[in-house]
Amino acid sequence: MKRAPLIAGNWKMFKTGSQAVATALRLAELSCDVKDTDIMIAPPFTALALVGEKIKASRIHLGAQNLFYEKEGAYTGEISANMLKEAGVSHVIIGHSERRQYFGENNEDVCKKIRAAVESSLVPVMCIGETELEKKDEKTFYVLDKQIENGLKGFRSDELSDLVIAYEPVWAIGTGKSATPDQAQQVHRYIRTKIQKMFGSNFAEETRIIYGGSVKPDNISELMNHDDVDGALVGGASLDADNFIQIIKFNRMI
Ligand code: PEP
Repeated sequence: MKRAPLIAGNWKMFKTGSQAVATALRLAELSCDVKDTDIMIAPPFTALALVGEKIKASRIHLGAQNLFYEKEGAYTGEISANMLKEAGVSHVIIGHSERRQYFGENNEDVCKKIRAAVESSLVPVMCIGETELEKKDEKTFYVLDKQIENGLKGFRSDELSDLVIAYEPVWAIGTGKSATPDQAQQVHRYIRTKIQKMFGSNFAEETRIIYGGSVKPDNISELMNHDDVDGALVGGASLDADNFIQIIKFNRMI
């Protein structure tokens, strides 16, 4: 069974509510004939409910860029899984490298956030990846092992049936320096073998592993031609609907 591709857009701290709605509406129009690929966009928190309302009838899934793991309480500035659910969110990006780098998130936080997502039936999109220095020091697989082991610690496979893993080498994010499709395939295969050892063969076969890091209309097709690349998490190139749709429709452009 081949996994359905997932093309996800991370809008980071770009777009006001009205700008996000305009892009989402344009994307809904452009993607109405897409059948075989799952689409997700993750606008900033302030735009979620507005965008959610507008794309309700489309095939686009609404994602959040983060959540906090507590259900409620005195946590100024944080957002819970339930709050996201009510805004129409179905997916949540967890452990993005910018969260790890600028806001001190570690693998234990990631694990708690995945637990919170799963308990609220949100699809967790867990981001992992090595920095440039870790790659240079040949620590890529060691780093990925720790991120996967500790990020998914204590879970049973059935609790993670919707999990998406996003392999995002930090050196490729926003740099224009994408991993080559062969490099991505090699690491994705490694990740699949790792989760197979932890959760079994069926789980590994069914779990989507998507690639992120300077994905563009001109490199998506080659990336997607590799067996273990099940989609993409796209930053910069997802901000413009007319550009992003070319990535979403990758398989029609070969
Ligand atoms: C990202 O933010 O997850 C990302 C991959 O960004 P970009 O596509 O801009 O490299």
